[in-house]
Amino acid sequence: MIDKISTLGGYIHEYQKSVTKPEEFWSRIAESFFWKKKWDKILDWNFSEPKINWFTNGKMNITENIFERHLFIRGNQPAIIWEPNEPNDENRVLTYNELFTEVKKFSNVLLQHGIKKGDRIAFYMPMIPELAIAMLACARIGAIHSIVFAGFSANSLADRIIDAEAKMVITSDGGYRGSKIIPIKEIVDEAVSTCPTVEKVIVVQRTNSEIAFDDKIDLWWHECMAGAEEYHEAETMDAEDTLFILYTSGSTDKPKGIVHTCGGYMVYTAYTFKNVFQYSDGDIYFCSADIGWITGHSYIVYGPLLNGATTMMFEGIPTYPDAGRYWDIVSKYNVSQFYTAPTAIRSLMSKGQEYVENKDLSSLKVLGTVGEPINEEAWHWYHDHIGKNRCPIVDTWWQTETGGIAISPIAGIIPTKPSFATLPLPGIQPIIVDAEGKELSEKSVEGNLCIKYPWPGMLRTIWGDHERFKKTYFSTYENLYFTGDGVKRDEDGYYRILGRVDDVINVSGHRMGTAEVENAINEHPLVNESAVVGFPHDIKGQGIYAFVVCGELSTGGVEGIKTSIQKGVTKIIGPIAKPDRIQLVRSLPKTRSGKIMRRILRKIAEGDYSNFGDISTLLDTSVVDEIIKGALENV
Ligand code: ATP
Ligand code: MG
Repeated sequence: MIDKISTLGGYIHEYQKSVTKPEEFWSRIAESFFWKKKWDKILDWNFSEPKINWFTNGKMNITENIFERHLFIRGNQPAIIWEPNEPNDENRVLTYNELFTEVKKFSNVLLQHGIKKGDRIAFYMPMIPELAIAMLACARIGAIHSIVFAGFSANSLADRIIDAEAKMVITSDGGYRGSKIIPIKEIVDEAVSTCPTVEKVIVVQRTNSEIAFDDKIDLWWHECMAGAEEYHEAETMDAEDTLFILYTSGSTDKPKGIVHTCGGYMVYTAYTFKNVFQYSDGDIYFCSADIGWITGHSYIVYGPLLNGATTMMFEGIPTYPDAGRYWDIVSKYNVSQFYTAPTAIRSLMSKGQEYVENKDLSSLKVLGTVGEPINEEAWHWYHDHIGKNRCPIVDTWWQTETGGIAISPIAGIIPTKPSFATLPLPGIQPIIVDAEGKELSEKSVEGNLCIKYPWPGMLRTIWGDHERFKKTYFSTYENLYFTGDGVKRDEDGYYRILGRVDDVINVSGHRMGTAEVENAINEHPLVNESAVVGFPHDIKGQGIYAFVVCGELSTGGVEGIKTSIQKGVTKIIGPIAKPDRIQLVRSLPKTRSGKIMRRILRKIAEGDYSNFGDISTLLDTSVVDEIIKGALENV
């Protein structure tokens, strides 16, 4: 079992070891896993090709480390607790034994249908247990899963299937999301009609919706499973064989197929899960992400299950039947650790206190956030109203590319500060550089966030495009992994993520992170959410354009609100950050993972209403039309 860091001194000690002797450090952690054959060499790397190999020639299977390693003591313990969309429908609890049986059976189904090690399988699934079962079955036989969030359009799905040349798609007849039924199979049919590599589509019955069923391609999950053999021996995988491909959410550019491999990803997600959340036996852990995102991969499925934890899977949405749903789940299951995104926190916060009051949240021990910078107001609300001032918040900074959490408090051990991701986890060596790549080594400094040494969970390449991998992450600064994010380090050595470097605004020579200005705007009592971008300004070089969502208008009306926002920002940051233009909007353009797509807002602020690039990951395009209309009225 992985040792848990349990004191601040312990963290400092572990961190030092991980930096001075990284190979020894990771080898000790890796030894607590089950390897069919031990590695010959811990690490073989350079950031110029780039080449990153961890645990060279080590042989293993990640599912043996989930099942065979735990069954002896945990066979009857719940592995997955699934909460359905409808609060009164029956839930499902799968023990480690039960989950294992399903995974082995589905492994045999895949083999029967001609899937071999190395083949790609695309997923387009709602949050139902079969998603986790099928994903683990892929890992067990060595097939590569490429899970696509089931909110993407048929076109986006087809792009991803084609890029990965997937042979099979796993889907369902439909999906419940709040009061809606999503015609998932219809979207898959449309996508697959343009994807010649797809031979079979396996369909889970969930909504019993009427669907088109083509006997030549489509297969029912339950029919396949009915006759499936229960015995299955895990495929032997090399530590560096691909475990999965996951396309990034696309806040910035065309989606990239991020490749993660078996050994390093296993060690890293298991280690970070256990430490960051301080998971203990008997805890019920609930991450509200969708498995279609990296957060779901690493911290609903792999990280928790590798630790023998009990992990929740929630089918529905946070506002159905009402905005208290997460808190109902917490009290129903006595959830100990709860992990969500700032966008969800801000949205639930704006719905009012009545959904939180009277909920029993006493089981909570740790709260987490991920995905975007969390503004201070939301942090405090989460801390006070959900954590009741007693649960540490882990503001976890990481990326699809990092595989697991990279900069974050360790719950209850590293003292927190609102809006700070605090300190690097052991094994992560952050470095802050200026635009030229020169290291800014002073403690208190601001610049571009890079990482200078490999860690086991990092991506290995972009699927089918190693050149793009090199260009995107290793060409901006020599011998450094560039994260694309801006960061500020304070006198305590704490890191605060300022947003993407591409979004940094330069006003009269002063560089400002979007998160900083938004944080100040969001302090305004009537503001729910905001997004700021730069626009060309004759005198200042760049001016600040703020798009603001308000719950209601005060007596001063629109102009009154704008003036008081400007005053507030001037007071909190200074006159330099005062927005030049403010536009009130009904909502902000967001990606399907809930992140603000600032590059669209930047175009609008510049007065360019057409060249938005790839917007396939946008949740709701009508929001953009509305904002353009408002912008035209605003000039
Ligand atoms: P794409 O790379 O396609 O544009 P994306 O970057 O949104 O999409 P993810 O890998 O899901 O895709 O998100 C990682 C990014 O999310 C980070 O680079 C950072 O900008 C932001 N982020 C994640 N966690 C935090 C956090 N705790 N604080 C601040 N920002 C965060
Ligand atoms: Mg990114």
